[in-house]
Amino acid sequence: DEEQVGASRAVPQARRVAVLLPLPLPEAYDYKVPAGMELGEGNYVEVPLGPRHLLGVVWGPGAGEVSDTKLRPVAQRFDIPPMPEIHRRFIDWVAAYTMAPPGAVLRMALSAIGGMEPPKPITAYQLFDPGRLAELRMTAARRRVLDLLADGPPRPSAELALEAGCSAAVVRGLADAGVLEPVLLHPTRNIPAPDWRLPGPVLSPEQAAAAESLRGKVAAAGFSTTLLDGVTGSGKTEVYSEAIAACLEAGRQVLVLLPEIALSAQWLERFATRFGAPPHQWHSDLSGTQRRATWRDVATGAARVVVGARSALFLPYPDLGLILIDEEHDPSFKQEDGVIYNARDMAVARAHLGAIPIVLVSATPSLESSINADAGRYGRLDLPARHGGASMPDLKLIDLRLDRPPRNRWLAPSLVTALTETFAEGEQAMLFLNRRGYAPLTLCRSCGHRMQCPNCTAWLVEHRLAGKLQCHHCDFTMKLLDVCPSCSAEGSMTACGPGVERIAEEVTQLFPDQRMALMTSDSLIGPHAIREMVRRVQDHEIDLLIGTQVMAKGHHFPMLTLVGVVDSDLGLGGGDLRAAERTYQLLQQVAGRAGRAERAGRVFLQTYMPEHPVLQALISGDRASFYEREADERHEHGMPPFGRLAALIVSGEEETTVDVVARALGRTAPRSETVQVLGPAPAPYALLRGRHRRRLLLKAPRAVSVQPLIAEWLSRVEVPGSVRVQVDIDPYSF
Ligand code: ADP
Ligand code: ZN
Repeated sequence: DEEQVGASRAVPQARRVAVLLPLPLPEAYDYKVPAGMELGEGNYVEVPLGPRHLLGVVWGPGAGEVSDTKLRPVAQRFDIPPMPEIHRRFIDWVAAYTMAPPGAVLRMALSAIGGMEPPKPITAYQLFDPGRLAELRMTAARRRVLDLLADGPPRPSAELALEAGCSAAVVRGLADAGVLEPVLLHPTRNIPAPDWRLPGPVLSPEQAAAAESLRGKVAAAGFSTTLLDGVTGSGKTEVYSEAIAACLEAGRQVLVLLPEIALSAQWLERFATRFGAPPHQWHSDLSGTQRRATWRDVATGAARVVVGARSALFLPYPDLGLILIDEEHDPSFKQEDGVIYNARDMAVARAHLGAIPIVLVSATPSLESSINADAGRYGRLDLPARHGGASMPDLKLIDLRLDRPPRNRWLAPSLVTALTETFAEGEQAMLFLNRRGYAPLTLCRSCGHRMQCPNCTAWLVEHRLAGKLQCHHCDFTMKLLDVCPSCSAEGSMTACGPGVERIAEEVTQLFPDQRMALMTSDSLIGPHAIREMVRRVQDHEIDLLIGTQVMAKGHHFPMLTLVGVVDSDLGLGGGDLRAAERTYQLLQQVAGRAGRAERAGRVFLQTYMPEHPVLQALISGDRASFYEREADERHEHGMPPFGRLAALIVSGEEETTVDVVARALGRTAPRSETVQVLGPAPAPYALLRGRHRRRLLLKAPRAVSVQPLIAEWLSRVEVPGSVRVQVDIDPYSF
């Protein structure tokens, strides 16, 4: 009111700043700037909040709504380059787009580092006295640690243990034995910068043209989106490495997002060979110390190239000049909890804010990117052939209705023949089944009881190697059963359908002399295990790989000439409009593992639906027609990218309350001539981790901005504290 306005004019206001905290709060809070402290936007500060002290970022001038007397002072300012303005705008933009509180987005950008204390020196180990090796009892784990140190820099024990796949006690044991010695390292490690002057391979004319075009975009230093679309083995990595070189030459930072960085050992090796130094990595397997050091290197600009998982997008690059998204179609770029976002789409927004080029790379682009390229919104560069005249694998369907596996077996006779031939040639084979464990369902033969997760709409999966039934959506596990929990019949519990462990069992019976390995997220834990597996395959210590999609990603095995897809129909069922696209991408990627260089590859796809358009597209190689039909279908239904989609997920532990809220949202939905709201309906996984879930789907034309509609909609409905409503803009499945 009048009086207060007058008063605040009369008394000079304290110097104040608005500080954004890494918490899901709707706005930044004001703090007083203590005398003698200089603060500008983007400064990292420590501030009190209730009894705690938190790391925050100065987001702007104070709003002045809290009176001076209530204002608490900033505790300290950290001596680190301020968060760049573009990065702050990016965080605000992501928050607005995803409808998450800005503080929740900031938390993604800061959570990795915990605090801002200047990093303390860390204890690392290096080889001390190899003379003592003779007296040492040698174990495989000790050997691996010593090998790592023989050709690498000193490293902390945790890092060595992670890389060697052993416990830190092994490292300490070696130190106690006097073979290793501790040294103090300054955490801003002196990682050598990648060298853009090193020559790459001689590019083919098609590759050179694509590389030239990308170099041009980097040199132009403005916003552009380019789809680099080329079959597996066409040299996309070599081509985009030229763009990386150009950006390094221009003195700017590069960000490369890969879907599964932990699976990218080969990519990292190739990078180090091409540029003479490794990139900075950013992913969830890093230790706390590594994270803080890497974060600092990015903030100070010491990190020139960062390769990482989706969260690498939220590092504070002072001078980002280029973004590359490899396997841009990959579903793992979508983060489904906390702030729900698609890193690929956010990266395009980041490139736009920073006025820099972004390159989306794929052998099977997402339909969205493909349509955006066709519409001229994105540039397109095609590499239609494998490098060096290597032939594409020959794809064949196996009609399981005609070419039947024996009872309780899963491999068709013709696939078994192909495996026999491959092993006879001394070549390697791979069987793909996107199902971990032994069997996806356990049921009682007496009463038909099915073993279901108590917390999720999902069957329990038998993991015979681990002796457990396990839910793949929550952490529920139980011992394998002898007696049916429903009818008490003995010995009646039966495994139904195959998982990779069951295929391994079948193959062991068929080919007892072949060396076989499982490649799944259960068997490959940590970068060491993956690197070791890749090495064993490359050194031909393995004849047959059996695995899930972790096997489909990025690895090149020159001796691998046969790929068998056990169940090509998996994933094609259900009403999801994305199912066909996703299955096509996955199977094409799996097929791409077969054959390289002079060896042609063969791919067999087992199916009960040989006429299905996805399978027809795969064997005919006519991707264009398939994409066109899918695009037509999307167009007809007004689905992305022709229309906009947003989902509301209503969830809670009490089903009735969830239903009440979901129905209230259904009644108050913003329906109009152009905007449709479908539902509420049970969400995919109507019960997940003990929470009941309902979904509403809002569909609008592209020109409509859905966020204000949704904000207004949510403000009209009372939501009790026990129920959560999450907004998922651009849901992956629809
Ligand atoms: P993509 O990323 O499209 O799958 P890569 O870049 O991995 O293709 O190339 C496939 C293989 O061919 C790699 O081993 C790569 O080193 C090799 N290769 C590609 N282009 C060339 C080239 N111009 N000269 C030499 N080797 C090449
Ligand atoms: Zn569960």
